[in-house]
Amino acid sequence: MEDSPQVKRYHRTRRVLGVVGFALDLALLLILLFTGWTVSLRSVAERFFPVPALALLVYLLLFGAISQGIGLPVDFLKGYWLEHRYGLSNLTLRGWMKDLVKGWAVSAVLMSLAIEFLYATVRYRPAHWWILCGFAFIAFFVLLANLAPVLLLPIFYKFEPLENPALVARLLELSRRAGTRVQGVFEWKLSEKSKKANAALVGLGNTRRIILSDTLLAEFREDEVEAVLAHEFGHHVHHHLAQAIGLQALATFLGFYLVNRALLEFSRFFGFTGLADFANLPLLVLVSVGLSLALLPVVNGHSRRMERQADLYALRAIPERSSFISSMEKLSTLNLAERRPHPWIEFLFHSHPSIEKRIAFAQKL
Ligand SMILES: [Zn+2]
Repeated sequence: MEDSPQVKRYHRTRRVLGVVGFALDLALLLILLFTGWTVSLRSVAERFFPVPALALLVYLLLFGAISQGIGLPVDFLKGYWLEHRYGLSNLTLRGWMKDLVKGWAVSAVLMSLAIEFLYATVRYRPAHWWILCGFAFIAFFVLLANLAPVLLLPIFYKFEPLENPALVARLLELSRRAGTRVQGVFEWKLSEKSKKANAALVGLGNTRRIILSDTLLAEFREDEVEAVLAHEFGHHVHHHLAQAIGLQALATFLGFYLVNRALLEFSRFFGFTGLADFANLPLLVLVSVGLSLALLPVVNGHSRRMERQADLYALRAIPERSSFISSMEKLSTLNLAERRPHPWIEFLFHSHPSIEKRIAFAQKL
């Protein structure tokens, strides 16, 4: 089935805005580097705060403010205007701004912690910083995955234990059969912000839980909710999280290794005083972004294979495959998903196979 012109337009606009936002970020990094403004920014920070850690914090706040300021129009168009235009959002402008500021605050705290740690390691262990930071950042990712449902998600959303004993029992039985333990089933109050539907298995270890958006609960039958969750448990059964952490670890070490080489190679060219000179941060970010971009098709290709495995598990775990098919239909309608994206777009950017392919796969099983 061909996507409607409305769906195509929505996704085309999203992609254009995504590319514009990315180009602006890239331009800022290049301008800071090639004009030497990053060095001036560092000098200003150091003049007021001679202690390296404090000067770095000031530099980071200035850098963050400039970058968020430049990105704001695109954030608004993508996060507010577009979602409203296509009737997907329930947020008021005030509510959207509140979330935006919260997002800035959270990322300011997390990024400052990570980058302060990175440059402190560069200062004290300049020869081996990239190995030490590799291990530390992976531990940080795992810790964040564990803390997300209890620390990060509640900053943006309300959750309540799901009051539907029959559905809770059904989902817990599904989790038992998948051999995983969850700490409860929660209703995720998404409708105050969005009309889109979502469900997930979040957290790690003692924080692992099922979350179901109220928008999903309002539209989906119980067998459809079961189908959606069965897919999530498929990821668990096939150890996809461990694989993802392993891949992330490889990419992190490779990234830090390349950053180390680039900083050593180009320090003098850009006028940095040495490896520990945090004016080199735009170069560090540029190398990381370049690597992520280069790895994107590989990462997405691997992700689509994992999604297919999870679909296969789901289709075998539920009584009727028609529940899976109708859950896909409903998700694509509610979320205005592209059922048949251009093959190149899917290959490069999509972490999931297209809805059309997932339904076809279920039908021919
Ligand atoms: Zn999945």
